Amino acid sequence: MLTQPNRREFLGAFGAFSLLPLEEERPDLILHNGNIHTVNPKEPHAQAIAISRGRIVGIGSDSDVMHLASPGSKKIDLAMKTVLPGFIDAHSHPAMAGVMHLRMVDCDLRSIAAIQAALRERAAKTPAGEWVLGFKYDDTKTSDGRSLAIGDLDAAVPNHPVQIEHRGGHTIYCNSLAFQTADINDKTPDPAGGKIDHDPATGKLSGRAAENARALFDKVIPNKLTRDDHREGVKLISKMLARTGITSAHEAQGTPTDLLAYQDAHEAGELLYRVYCLINYRFIDSMIAAGMRTGLGDEWVRVGAMKLVCDGSISERTARLSQPYEGRPNDYGILVMTEDELYAYGRKAHLAGWQIGTHSNGDVGIDTTLRVYERLQKENPRHDPRFRLEHCTVINDNLLARIKVLGAIPTPFSTYVYYHGEKMRYYGADRLNHMFALRSFLDAGIRATQASDYPPGEFIPMMALQSEVTRTDTKGNLWGPKQKITVEEAIRVGTIHGAYASYEENLKGSLEVGKVADLVVLDRDPMKEDPSTLVTIPVERTLAGGRWTYES
Ligand SMILES: [Zn+2]
Repeated sequence: MLTQPNRREFLGAFGAFSLLPLEEERPDLILHNGNIHTVNPKEPHAQAIAISRGRIVGIGSDSDVMHLASPGSKKIDLAMKTVLPGFIDAHSHPAMAGVMHLRMVDCDLRSIAAIQAALRERAAKTPAGEWVLGFKYDDTKTSDGRSLAIGDLDAAVPNHPVQIEHRGGHTIYCNSLAFQTADINDKTPDPAGGKIDHDPATGKLSGRAAENARALFDKVIPNKLTRDDHREGVKLISKMLARTGITSAHEAQGTPTDLLAYQDAHEAGELLYRVYCLINYRFIDSMIAAGMRTGLGDEWVRVGAMKLVCDGSISERTARLSQPYEGRPNDYGILVMTEDELYAYGRKAHLAGWQIGTHSNGDVGIDTTLRVYERLQKENPRHDPRFRLEHCTVINDNLLARIKVLGAIPTPFSTYVYYHGEKMRYYGADRLNHMFALRSFLDAGIRATQASDYPPGEFIPMMALQSEVTRTDTKGNLWGPKQKITVEEAIRVGTIHGAYASYEENLKGSLEVGKVADLVVLDRDPMKEDPSTLVTIPVERTLAGGRWTYES
């Protein structure tokens, strides 16, 4: 069946186009002979899709859609390849990751010796005394069976201060010169909401620091990135995301610098995904003063929610839990901001009409955040606030019921079970049945999203599908099987639910007439694939706004 609006409906939906002659609505691109999953429940399957100036103007059977062709229409035979709406990564850090890939040492390596070699190489090209910075280090993925120690970094790079960020982004590993530069010694007390680790035997600095202790280093690391570097970062990460089928991302901890970088990249034609830019709470006063709020912008670069942080991280095991970590009876994780602080910032944003997204991983973190949201809504009820719970990892029935009542949106990690399997033992088998709880969310009618949190998690949407559907890691271990969902559900989570989380469900997230032409062409159909090989499905092409952003 063909869905095409009559001219009046079409013009009504898109007032800006109303001055253009009817000819302009003729498709410039038609994809046909395809296996198209639309994620539109009214018409779930189609063969062909017609696109005009970045919008879908027809979708249905080959014969119906081909009928719309004009002499100028380019036709592409999909040869029965599968098409899905473009994927929406609802929590990720692409602008930051982009500049990291440009300027820092990628420490996603499998031994401490390999990391030392990479740092040594960078130090050789860096003037003495200047910082050597690394990222994507993962203590559980090196073959050494232990974490990076201060001695490893001193041995590799003695004459430059070194800071390596864990890929989770909440902990750092530094050499002695870095601690000296930050004026931290063995006796320096932990700052509020932060931790400086010591060797339990000697009491000396171990090299690791967590959460708010990072600020002590941030003060002394000069920021040398230029406006152009930030635009280049967006350009670089754009290509990385596009090749996996991502057409939208929610920048989860954005700054005014990121917002500018996105505008610069878009103007230069280098931005290949639509961005919903959450704004770090530290900038909320100036944003409100400038008259900005959630939703400002256009279909490519839009101001998102205000971002708050309640507790620690899952991959670095600092999330705040009601029950301690397995094998660490006194470790319950870290609360980063107090409930009073969350409320004070939240109130300001809520009253100014902002959506709020709060990083809340552990059940204690989620409980705290929900209490703040419940209070805001009780004191100043707002229509459709769509409060976001960033990550919302460890849940229970009480939290689930309150999320449902509030209409809040969880953005659980999509690829963690598959990619970070070796970290799951710190949470234990029982708790895993309440983590990344998509089955529970969907059964309760809660619109949870797909979210990579890259760099901490991998962003490949096909990996997300496999992780969510199988709950199995790369070694075949099953983690939290009660939370398995179907492939069809996982696709909805990765598309229309992501659109809902940014108030854009009428713009994207499914393939329907009037929506933007954002889609991915896959070599095989995920619905017919063995779930254990979903991650191997090749992406053939990605289209965003009617433009090919990736072609294999
Ligand atoms: Zn994040």
